[in-house]
Amino acid sequence: KTERKIIEASIRDIKDFPKPGIVFKDITTLLNDHKAYGVLMNHLYQRYKEYNLDFIAGIDARGFIFGAALAQMLGLGFVPIRKKGKLPYTTISEKYSLEYGVDEVEVHIDAFSAVPNAKVLVIDDLIATGGTANAAATLVNQTGATCVEACFIIGLSFLDGIKKLEEKTTVYSLIEV
Ligand code: IMP
Repeated sequence: KTERKIIEASIRDIKDFPKPGIVFKDITTLLNDHKAYGVLMNHLYQRYKEYNLDFIAGIDARGFIFGAALAQMLGLGFVPIRKKGKLPYTTISEKYSLEYGVDEVEVHIDAFSAVPNAKVLVIDDLIATGGTANAAATLVNQTGATCVEACFIIGLSFLDGIKKLEEKTTVYSLIEV
């Protein structure tokens, strides 16, 4: 089996979650499968080892699982981009719209300050409309660092999230659905 097939086979579809009509991509089965998780992390390591990145920024909450592991493999610091109200120190925040209403993500103002003009990879499990990742990339750039790429395990290509995000940064999604 190819790497992609092994990873794809370990992700489960959950119908009608969190609402009727939505097919939720459940990555807990990937995390539960040591081999598939390892194949994924090795794939990401091979891709990013030559990028000369300075930090990995993971999006709350599933982006933490992949981002923190990848940061350790690459020998880089990890930065959490969190939902509003979770980070204890001074933050900058960015709102983005959902189907109904708005949400907001935050990052510590000094998160990337250890490296001047830091090159940052933003990572999450999945991109749908791209709203969350767009806000995350905006935050990174507002700190004075640069989001050089946004990485997703799954990209929902029937939405135009990837296309929109590509106006801001390079986008890599391993599995397109
Ligand atoms: P977006 O902002 O519309 O691109 O939604 C992406 C965010 O919602 C990410 O943080 C994902 O973790 C989460 N998300 C949306 N749909 C799914 C799904 O089917 N599986 C897992 N996470 C999802």
